[in-house]
Amino acid sequence: MDSLERFTFGVGDRFAHQAAAQLRAFELAAEQGVAVIPVWNKSNREHSFIGSEPQSVYDAAAAAIKERQWSKGWHVDADHIGMTTVDRFLNCSDFFTIDVADSIGKPADAAAIDAFVQRHPELQGEIQIEGIENPFSMTADSLRQTAGQYLLAVQEAGTIYRYIADKKGGEDQLIAEVSMDETDAPQTPPEMLVILALLADEGVRVQTIAPKFTGRFNKGVDYVGDLQQFEREFNDDLAVIAHAVSTYGLPGNLKVSVHSGSDKFSLYPIIRKALERTGAGLHLKTAGTTWLEELIGLSEAEGEGLALAKEIYAYALQHVEEFCAPYASVIDIDAAKLPSADEVQGWQGSQFANAVRHIPDHPEFNPHVRQLLHVSFKVAAKHGDRYLNMLRENSEIVGKNVTENIYQRHMKPLFVG
Ligand SMILES: [Zn+2]
Repeated sequence: MDSLERFTFGVGDRFAHQAAAQLRAFELAAEQGVAVIPVWNKSNREHSFIGSEPQSVYDAAAAAIKERQWSKGWHVDADHIGMTTVDRFLNCSDFFTIDVADSIGKPADAAAIDAFVQRHPELQGEIQIEGIENPFSMTADSLRQTAGQYLLAVQEAGTIYRYIADKKGGEDQLIAEVSMDETDAPQTPPEMLVILALLADEGVRVQTIAPKFTGRFNKGVDYVGDLQQFEREFNDDLAVIAHAVSTYGLPGNLKVSVHSGSDKFSLYPIIRKALERTGAGLHLKTAGTTWLEELIGLSEAEGEGLALAKEIYAYALQHVEEFCAPYASVIDIDAAKLPSADEVQGWQGSQFANAVRHIPDHPEFNPHVRQLLHVSFKVAAKHGDRYLNMLRENSEIVGKNVTENIYQRHMKPLFVG
């Protein structure tokens, strides 16, 4: 069976030039005795914005694995696919993030909901779960309501899962993640329990599940929310997962997946403590922030690299609304705090780099500039070869930033210490 390792870390590489520099970070973790396994991911949305094909992600990853002689596992994630988008990912992915968030809350078959409630008396009354202090309680009515909320989404996950398994030649040929993060309402731990029971009944051998947590997971910046509440919910989710594995026979390596997980510096100590305490696994998916490290590296290179970075910013500034629209729910930009193109024109490379690089207490850090550039990768794509040539010419300084960002600011606090 294609089985997901305990610690996996999803990296995006929008322009397919940084796989080796990303892999270097995993080597650094391995040198510290921590096996973190790389998963390269790129969603259909990003492919269509850039005009790239899913196969290019596999090819870039495979080349890096060969170049650096990486001997542990690695995966390629068809990120946020659905029935209409999965086909072109089938040959070049082994990990599938099955996104069914849009079906949450849509009406499901009443008889199927009733049958679920009948089948699961253990989900009614007080539910004692090891590791959770205050037992959950559900009535037949509240169980019916929760099951009704998620049944259609789970059935859809089942349809997509079976389709992929059929095309790949068996259920053991794929790693399935079910994602419900791109929706408005967070899923509480009791809902997570019902979702996992539904998935087990549907026969989905899910290895990782991405809930929407309470609080804001904006792209490329820190978590905004109540840390104590997050800690409680995260710990409860881990307990629920362990309980569901033993109660419903889900895969033993089933673990939680944190999407938009890059840059959530205030959460890492909480997550780390929970993983150490429970021995649970984690999949952390970053938000394609490697491309920001490319800009940082190019600006540090001064000269033409810095000039291009400034051009990209100036263009992004003129298209703030257009670029932000598809990401409205996952960014928080105060336009009044974006410096003018003229002002940025006067910056040295180090100032540009400091504005973008995520060191929250650095006096020159500007989260608004960072978030705007994060969603403006289309502009670099528009520059085509000019951008890519610049990456090649400055591969050393760019690569250094890519590696450092992943290892120092992410893997170290999460897994290494
Ligand atoms: Zn996601």
